[in-house]
Amino acid sequence: MNTLYCDVCDKERSFEVREETRTYTVRDTEVNVNLFLSYCKTCKEEVYNREMEIHNDGIVFNAYKEKNGLLTSHEVKDLREKYGLSQQNFARLLGFGDKTVTRYENGSIQDRAHDNLMRLMKKIGNFRELWSRRKEILSKQANRKVAQRLEKMDTLWGLTKRELPIVYIATESNALSDADEGFDYETDLSETDGENMSWYSNTERGGTVS
Ligand SMILES: [Zn+2]
Repeated sequence: MNTLYCDVCDKERSFEVREETRTYTVRDTEVNVNLFLSYCKTCKEEVYNREMEIHNDGIVFNAYKEKNGLLTSHEVKDLREKYGLSQQNFARLLGFGDKTVTRYENGSIQDRAHDNLMRLMKKIGNFRELWSRRKEILSKQANRKVAQRLEKMDTLWGLTKRELPIVYIATESNALSDADEGFDYETDLSETDGENMSWYSNTERGGTVS
């Protein structure tokens, strides 16, 4: 695209792009952002550049989210991808409308309740619990992908639960509290009354850990 319509000139004009810092107010929050803006080369006035406008909106909304302690679009995407889920499946697991996660990733601002729920999914133990309750709404293929991701994350020093049963016990009292990316001690250790009992029995039988 070499030209854009300029309101002032009332003509298609060639334009140049400049980076500028601007201040916007989004729902009572003031944000400073660096945006790329287009200017008519002839009259020097700003011209509307649809593609760039969409990109800029995303920057403005993410700045709002950051300032208000909400997950940014990228954080929502990273979180979803960590569990190998599509936007629709992540939304369904959370009990949102089908397009909700898509909208958040595209820049829409989530309400606090949705943000809290998504944020809780950062803890693998929380996600695992939700998923195990609701996995019947996903396809077999989608569930297999989630299971693979979870198993990959369930490692300690690079070894899976199956490979490391004894060390797992030995480290129970260790203060490995920030285990977001690894094994979720707090949750998984507290679930020994249920399905996670299989940790040992499965290991001894050489079976798979659910
Ligand atoms: Zn112009």
